[in-house]
Amino acid sequence: MRVISNIASLREVRRSWQAGSKVIAFVPTMGNLHQGHLNLVKAAKLKADIVVVSIFVNPLQFGPDEDLDAYPSTMDNDRKVLSELGVDILFTPQSKDIYSRGLERQTFVEVPGLSYMICGASRPGHFRGVATIVCKLFNMVQPNMAFFGEKDFQQLQVIKAMVTDLSMNVSIYGVPTMRTPDGLAMSSRNQYLTETERQLAPALYQQLQDMAAQITQGRRDFTRLASECTESLLAAGFHPDYIEIRSADSLLQPGHEDHNIVILAAAFLGRTRLIDNLQLSLSG
Ligand code: AMP
Repeated sequence: MRVISNIASLREVRRSWQAGSKVIAFVPTMGNLHQGHLNLVKAAKLKADIVVVSIFVNPLQFGPDEDLDAYPSTMDNDRKVLSELGVDILFTPQSKDIYSRGLERQTFVEVPGLSYMICGASRPGHFRGVATIVCKLFNMVQPNMAFFGEKDFQQLQVIKAMVTDLSMNVSIYGVPTMRTPDGLAMSSRNQYLTETERQLAPALYQQLQDMAAQITQGRRDFTRLASECTESLLAAGFHPDYIEIRSADSLLQPGHEDHNIVILAAAFLGRTRLIDNLQLSLSG
């Protein structure tokens, strides 16, 4: 595995692949890699000849009161596990090179609508930051395909919309959420949890499963169901940010014609914001 931190060197390597008809897959990450990230890499390896992984903690997607400075970095271990998995290129650019004209003057990409709802309503500017960095990284790596986790379900929809709207020649693949044995969605942010919070954390996914079971059994009063879930989470010690039942295709409120549903949730446990989601199909 080659580690490249310089944009010009990446472009040079990319040019050398141009001649062969190699399929190039890309997995963007912010590092502190866990099994969820590694599953994206494995999925990429199954489909492509060359796999490029990036590690870049993107300042543009963090709000002023968020954990940019505290975001955990485990670069030595990340490099080791990616190399063991047979990744071809690890791209680790510097913020000063990525945002060479400064964050304030940076041209941005914004997917309207999708970026403003649900997580976007709680984290203004977050999806603009995500779309902008992914667009820039696509321009650098020029992949044929890119892999994203369904754990960040709304992010995946934003990226798909950006690729469609800007006619990008990149196929986007979603990879199912990797969980710990007790059901907690793996996340770099889980390490902020205290021991007690960590014990409590799987209750978020249990709530989603409980809601899904009730919907499957015929419940359709989604607003009421979501507020019951909010109450249960509050009682369990969470501070819910949102619980939403949406169309998995549009992320809008589901109509009668929507059979693919997603339940999306974000809740604080102490200072840690956990997100999770669960997809289900309605029969009939
Ligand atoms: P991050 O490093 O948190 O920006 O995540 C990089 C990529 O890994 C994103 O596409 C995430 O959706 C994906 N990812 C993070 N956690 C998981 C997980 N538990 N299961 C599957 N994919 C994940």
